[in-house]
Amino acid sequence: MKKVTLRLILGDQLNASHSWFSKTDQDVVYLMAEMRQETDYVVHHIQKVVGYFSAMRNFEETLKREGHQVTYLTLDHESCHRTLSFIIEEQLAVHKALFFEYLEPDEYRLDKQLKEICQRLLLAAKCYDTEHFYTSKNTLKDFFTGKKQYVMEPFYRMMRKKHRILMEGDKPLGDKWNFDQENRNKWKGKPAIPAPIKLSNNVSEVYALVRKHHIKTIGQINDNCFEWPISIEQSEQLLENFCTYLLKDFGNYQDAMHTQEKFLFHSRISFALNTKMISPQRVINKVIETYENQTFPEVSLNQVEGFVRQILGWREYMRGIYWMEMPSYGEKNSLENNHKLPDFYWTANTKMNCLHHAIKQSLETSYAHHIQRLMVTGNYALLTQTNPDFVDQWYLGVYIDAIEWVEMPNTRGMSQWADGGIVATKPYVSSGNYIQKMSNYCESCQYNYKEKTGENACPFNSLYWNFLDEKKAYFKNNHRMSMMLSLLNKMDPQQLIDIKKRAQHIIANPDLY
Ligand code: FAD
Ligand code: SF4
Repeated sequence: MKKVTLRLILGDQLNASHSWFSKTDQDVVYLMAEMRQETDYVVHHIQKVVGYFSAMRNFEETLKREGHQVTYLTLDHESCHRTLSFIIEEQLAVHKALFFEYLEPDEYRLDKQLKEICQRLLLAAKCYDTEHFYTSKNTLKDFFTGKKQYVMEPFYRMMRKKHRILMEGDKPLGDKWNFDQENRNKWKGKPAIPAPIKLSNNVSEVYALVRKHHIKTIGQINDNCFEWPISIEQSEQLLENFCTYLLKDFGNYQDAMHTQEKFLFHSRISFALNTKMISPQRVINKVIETYENQTFPEVSLNQVEGFVRQILGWREYMRGIYWMEMPSYGEKNSLENNHKLPDFYWTANTKMNCLHHAIKQSLETSYAHHIQRLMVTGNYALLTQTNPDFVDQWYLGVYIDAIEWVEMPNTRGMSQWADGGIVATKPYVSSGNYIQKMSNYCESCQYNYKEKTGENACPFNSLYWNFLDEKKAYFKNNHRMSMMLSLLNKMDPQQLIDIKKRAQHIIANPDLY
């Protein structure tokens, strides 16, 4: 009698290099399913749902081509509308499987669910590492044991040393760990930004299926010309394109924003990474290889270090924070913020030009780069003291790369200070000045970034001072806030009253601005 093993592959576990696939075994059946529980746990962007299912279908084909047995359930399969537990039990029976195996989920929600399912199953079950990350779920916890603060920098340095990345003996290459000071330029039309790579996938079949099953989504899609990578080959193409044309200016302009340029010099590799179609090791190796080979065009160390830091540092760090702090992290609201997110987050209908552009772009492309997320949409949500639950839901839904393990520490932690400073050492808030410094948004805005009060004053200005005033008791012992708070203290009392009046009006009527 055959001893069949059923192996589950989730939609963000498309790692073709996993040791599971190193040999074919006719007693192993891989299970993939387009599950309603995954399309419905939050309202996702349409490109996210279609992107996932399209990438899963390509992965199924890859596995089958290599001789593996795969059971792939599309949305048309009745059990996809039931729970994960139902699907697993049904497929175990269909295949008369004696063993159940799965890859460690990256989300707490699924991790818990699968552990519970395995406890109920009357057969042997086993969980495997996804073999994707540099670190294990507990690396960060071990690293920070006994330390008061979980600052990213020492973790990043440890990772550089451990993995021998951009090192010269025991010293960092170029004698500096961090080139951030050189990476804060505004983009003023030069250097030219190469046209984005056109992947032009036809995903109309998947799109029609999503519509047929009335899955609620947000945003727009061009299903004849879908531009996100949905295969391993396309993920490689995107990386190649980045290294050849964009890496040379990545660091210099990584914080810049522009009305006409959505992607600037960013890689857009996050969806390929988070679905595991490409590994962080592959991305970092290719970037370093580009630097070392110095093929045309020339790539300097600050571009490379800036990029490596994002993946080797921030990405692994955020995952570690998530696993260290869950499940309570998802309930944190240190500043006790309780306002609603304005309606314009779903329409982009606002006169504030920076928000209009960042949100419009997010709805059109399911993408915004880091500074748009942090210093425009995130900044506004924090300044208006929005409940972090609403902010989390929005970020988790709208971006194609959003999976809770990376979305939540970025949103609740870095952006909203809801974790009370676990991730950030000071809240990421700014007035209109910062946005003006890093973008051209203010040039065509009806508001004036220099004014604090009056009809034409930039809303970010009054909101900023109002936020500081309302939270000054909370932040009084945070030395990184002392300069801002001392400026607040020096403000003319009548001016502060006027500023606060305007801020209160904006908070009460966000969709009027
Ligand atoms: P690039 O700028 O080209 O950077 C390269 C890669 O570095 C990214 O693909 C990503 O894998 C990694 N990276 C950079 N910054 C971070 C970071 N802070 N945390 C983790 N990885 C990072 N990233 C997600 O992958 N998923 C999310 O759901 C997500 N939500 C975010 C929410 C907020 C409020 C903020 C401020 C940031 C969020 N980020 C998230 C981090 C970052 O904005 C995106 O990774 C990045 O914009 C993706 O675009 P890119 O691939 O062009 O990145
Ligand atoms: Fe945004 Fe204010 Fe600049 Fe307008 S003036 S784009 S609202 S920062």
